Amino acid sequence: MSNRNPKQENGGSKIQHVKLVLLGDQGVGKSSIALRFVRGEFYENSEATVGAAFLTQTVNVQGHSIKFDIWDTAGQERYHSLAPMYYRGAQAAIVVYDITNQKSYDRAVAWVKELRQQANSQITIVLAGNKADMAHDSRAVQIEEAKHFSESNDLGWFEASAKTGMAVGDIFMSVGK
Ligand code: GDP
Ligand code: MG
Repeated sequence: MSNRNPKQENGGSKIQHVKLVLLGDQGVGKSSIALRFVRGEFYENSEATVGAAFLTQTVNVQGHSIKFDIWDTAGQERYHSLAPMYYRGAQAAIVVYDITNQKSYDRAVAWVKELRQQANSQITIVLAGNKADMAHDSRAVQIEEAKHFSESNDLGWFEASAKTGMAVGDIFMSVGK
């Protein structure tokens, strides 16, 4: 007789939890990315996050159920000291910048460095350039720059749009794999 748990054999019943934190400047679209991923919605005038918001979403990745516990942090500098509470113990971090705002990219680079120094050494970090729907008229952050930084720092990297939904699911799926 095998003592294997049949629940683990059919692949679909066992839910894996991933604790994930969204980091990045205020206004880059962290809450919008979370809302697009969890509810498929987008608002032109979303309210600034106070402190942090918590959302969950369960998805199927390559036959496995993954439940994301998502901490959507506030980007304002006055909340910076709270960030370690959210990224300590996180298995994944999505660091978001706005492709139309160079300063937000510089802040994202600083977040990556902080995570490398202070977070769990096993943490999966994905860099996400949001508002890609505005690339044609308003791009400020060059693809080559972000791509090169990501490759040399062993990060996943996507350009995405919470507005159109482009690549939002891909960001989370890449974390789940
Ligand atoms: P957060 O402070 O990082 O959580 O940013 P929010 O999600 O609150 O978004 C800030 C503003 O950017 C809001 O007015 C959003 O509607 C807008 N926004 C968010 N994502 C996108 C996007 O992909 N494209 C465009 N054009 N606007 C976006
Ligand atoms: Mg927010």
